[in-house]
Amino acid sequence: MRRSRAFIPTTKEAPSDATLPSHQFLVRGGFINQQGSGLYNFMPLGKIVLEKIRRVVKEELDKAGCNEVQLSFITPISLWDRSGRADTMGKEMLRISDRHDADFVLSPTNEEAMVELVKNRVNSYKDLPLNLYQINTKFRDEARPRYGLLRGREFLMKDAYSFHASKEDMIREFDLMEATYKKIFTRLGLDFRVVQADSGAIGGEGSKEFHVLADSGEDTIVICDACDYGANIEKIFDTEEEVNALNEKSYEELSEKTIDEKCSCGGNLSFKKGIEVGHIFQLGDRYSSSLEAKFNDENGKPKAFEMATFGIGVSRLVASVIEQNHDENGCIWTKETAPYMVNIMVSNIKDEAQTELGEKLYSELQDKNVEVILDDRKERFGFKMKDAELIGFPYTIIIGKELVNGLVQIYDRKTTEKTSVSVDEVMSKIMDII
Ligand code: ATP
Ligand code: MG
Repeated sequence: MRRSRAFIPTTKEAPSDATLPSHQFLVRGGFINQQGSGLYNFMPLGKIVLEKIRRVVKEELDKAGCNEVQLSFITPISLWDRSGRADTMGKEMLRISDRHDADFVLSPTNEEAMVELVKNRVNSYKDLPLNLYQINTKFRDEARPRYGLLRGREFLMKDAYSFHASKEDMIREFDLMEATYKKIFTRLGLDFRVVQADSGAIGGEGSKEFHVLADSGEDTIVICDACDYGANIEKIFDTEEEVNALNEKSYEELSEKTIDEKCSCGGNLSFKKGIEVGHIFQLGDRYSSSLEAKFNDENGKPKAFEMATFGIGVSRLVASVIEQNHDENGCIWTKETAPYMVNIMVSNIKDEAQTELGEKLYSELQDKNVEVILDDRKERFGFKMKDAELIGFPYTIIIGKELVNGLVQIYDRKTTEKTSVSVDEVMSKIMDII
């Protein structure tokens, strides 16, 4: 991409309600813009990042044997009446009616629709297990949409639903998905923890959440410094008041709080703030029973499916990467999420030699399938560099005054170090580090 042709509307000012770095930098960097409360447009850079995250999620799920589908976003209310959730979902569920006054829902989640899809299509235990997923828009009329992409009203979620002939097999899939989620978040370059979560009536270890560790996280978790034990405080404190009181506390306040109890392994427990980016849940037959979705078991007896459900906040992940990776000047993208890996900065585009080298490196990197952007704008060097910092390209090749001595610089966004390299070596150096 040539920067002179790109639609990347960067700005100096952040919106007044943007209190978190991800919200400020994603808007200022021209990744997203707000359409309305909790509603965001993805501009070209935001769209690239979103697609990259979606691709990692898809690749790992496909490898684990899941099937991708896409359900209609608008679902008839009758579906929700049958499961009983039309009455219990409350105001988060946004309803609309059509010209015939028929009522519909903008899907906040899709258990009912997935069960309906499988019902009468999967009839035998021989067709099980089955794991269906989609990466699709969700709508939740959140009481407090805030923090940009972290808590939107419309957002992109990966939601998966698995169907099994037995509880044992459902738990096998649950464990497989835990391992798959770990691969996904590791590939995205995130520092995260898996924690026990509140599973309501189901109990046991039937619900786990994946939290990206970030001071700004809305959730409070307890983690062990010696083993991989972790729990959402919702799981360990009995009353909502206790949980809310801790969630209100800032990361600094919490880190001063000591926990007297030790982990069962003997390690020390401490409070951390987390952003929930994934949730896996053993459902049992709650939906299959109420919606009468059955299969014939080995003895030919009809039985309700054992189910589990698995969610990932795909658009929330875009912001989570930045909550964890930024400095005062802007975004620092990880390798798997960077909108462009290499930015070529022609300092003075009136300088023919600089422009020529920029064009040459641009086409050579493109030939090697490197995601590259060429900053060929007629702007001051300082301005262009500030822009590159704000956006957060992992590497910038600076072609400047030193070119007369046969040198260019490679700027590393994460370490902010500049290294001089000779023009002859720059291609091989860049190919080595990316
Ligand atoms: P939260 O406690 O943050 O409201 P939830 O328990 O309602 O999350 P789930 O129903 O488990 O979330 O949805 C699966 C995933 O979708 C969550 O783990 C989260 O990453 C993402 N998600 C949920 N609500 C939102 C939202 N309003 N904006 C963006 N992502 C969301
Ligand atoms: Mg919620």
